[in-house]
Order: sequence, then C-alpha cells, then structure tokens
Amino acid sequence: MLLLDGKAVAAAIRAETAEEVKTLTARIGRKPGLAVILAGDNGPSQTYVRNKERACAEVGIVSETLRLPAHTTQDEILAHIRALNAREDIDGILLQLPLPGHIDSRPCLECIDPAKDVDGFHPVNMGRLLLDMPGLRPCTPAGVMELLKRSNLRPAGKKAVVVGRSNIVGKPLAVMLGAKNAQANATVTLCHSATPDLASICRDADFLFLAMGQPETITGDMLKPGAVVVDVGISVTDNGLRGDADFASLRDRAGAASPVPGGVGPMTIAMLLHNTVQSCTARCLKC
Ligand code: NDP
Repeated sequence: MLLLDGKAVAAAIRAETAEEVKTLTARIGRKPGLAVILAGDNGPSQTYVRNKERACAEVGIVSETLRLPAHTTQDEILAHIRALNAREDIDGILLQLPLPGHIDSRPCLECIDPAKDVDGFHPVNMGRLLLDMPGLRPCTPAGVMELLKRSNLRPAGKKAVVVGRSNIVGKPLAVMLGAKNAQANATVTLCHSATPDLASICRDADFLFLAMGQPETITGDMLKPGAVVVDVGISVTDNGLRGDADFASLRDRAGAASPVPGGVGPMTIAMLLHNTVQSCTARCLKC
C-alpha cells in the first residue's frame, strides 16, 4: 500500500511557497500579510492557530492574530473584520471556527472581503468554485486534490465516493473531483448520515474520501481492493488522534491511503499559505 505522505508533500509546497514569497516581496516592497481572528479559548483552535503562525513565519508571510475573549460580541467581530478588509498590508483574513456559541458565523464569514477570503468559505468564492471560475478555494479540499496530483493519482474516469457533506470539506471536495479537467473528471457520489448501506457504496469506490469525524469507522472490508483512501477526519480519542478509517485494517486492501496525523492536515496549512500568496499576488500585481 502506498502511503500518501501529506507531511512530505506539504513540506515541498511550503518550500515552493517560500520562494514565491521572496520574489513577491521583492516586487511589491512588503511581505504578504495574513490576519487570523481567534475568539474564545477552544483548545484545538489555539493549537491550529499556533501551527498556522509557525507555518507563516517559515515561508516569510507576516501573520498577526487577534486573540479575542470568549465574550466578544458579533458586532465587535464584524468591526474587526471591516478594519482588516480596509488594511492594505493584509492580504488574507481567516476567521478561526468554531466561534463562541452566541456568535453566528455566517454573517461574519460573509463580511470578509472575498479577495482576502483565504479560507475560501465566502459565498462568492464558493460560487466561483461551483461555476469553475478562478478564485480562492477552501484549503482542505484543495489540499486533498493537490495531494492526489503530487502522488500521481488521477481520479479521472474513476468512481469517487465522498463521505461527509459539510460546506468546508465534503461539498467543495465533491465539486472539485467532478470538475471538467484532467486532474478531476471523476464520477462522484456524495454520502452523509442519511445514506443507506454506506459500506456497499464504499466498496464500489476507486477513490474514497472520508470527512465524517467518526473515528475508525471505515474498515478494510468496506473497500474495493486497490482503492485509494484519503482520510480527512481528525478525532481526538483516548488512543490519540484518529481518522475516519481504521488505518491498520486498510493495509492489505487499499492501493494507497493517507495516515492521520500526517496526511491531509499538513496539506490544509500548506494550501492556506498558497492562498495567501495567491491573494497578495492578485491584489498587488493584477489590479
Ligand atoms: P461536519 O461535522 O461539519 O460534517 C460531517 C459530515 O459527515 C456530515 O455531512 C455528516 O452527515 C457526515 N456523517 C457523520 N456521521 C456519518 C456517518 N456515520 N455516516 C455517513 N456520514 C456521516 O464535519 P467537517 O466536515 O467539518 O469535518 C469532518 C472531519 O474532518 C472532522 O473529523 C474534522 O475534524 C476533520 N477536518 C480535518 C481537516 C484537516 O485539515 N485534516 C480540516 C477540516 C475538518 P450529515 O450532513 O447528514 O450530518
């Protein structure tokens, strides 16, 4: 079984991004800037944001994090976003989810300037994805597509099954896989919690993408022999971080599989850096 080593692929992308940042910085006279808004004290979010800060520093992107208390109001968050939208030195704005329970994330995400929406969650960027127009793409599904490409795995002409239909992973991934281009062109089935007999649908997949958040539920006997499994799921369990697949049971059955951790996670951060450079380039060089 081929190991889809997201850690190694992401390191290669970060090295390329660092070169792009150098060139861009020389041309525009400043480094690309990313602002992260972190409201509240969600433990995993604090870790994710620290990882993003570290990754930015490594490639030469200036990052600043607004750490806001859990009682911050929606109006205050909107005011921060508007201020960041207006700043010339900020190319990307990332609103770390989940927000504290009293805040509605939708209007906050919609308030972000689509040109600075490096998470790709704004309705304008989602619409551009659906219409196959250029735009900022959601980092996790874009990272999955890049992981396939750089591992020389082509879903074109194959049956792809995506399990999970969230707006940030499953839905955009299904659109990307079904897009009309040589790196996609898959025939896609999108599954969710109301899908009957998930096992038989998984067994029909040449490419299986897991984004449920249900640890170790997909086992080797649910695969077509030789299938490619990309596991987006990350769950904190008593045994550490686990994906949606029972990785050990895939070994004798899958043709390729991504581990958790070390698979899609590092790709997501690499694509965030890529999106920040893309946004900076579009704002500063192409206007
Ligand atoms: P959501 O909870 O928003 O969505 C989960 C999806 O899985 C839903 O569509 C749900 O169906 C479906 N689902 C849940 N249980 C089952 C089941 N038993 N059978 C079939 N479908 C099921 O999660 P996210 O998309 O935000 O995240 C999914 C996982 O990916 C999580 O573990 C998360 O931590 C991880 N993640 C990892 C990232 C990375 O960088 N590696 C980035 C983002 C997320 P329904 O719609 O019917 O409720």
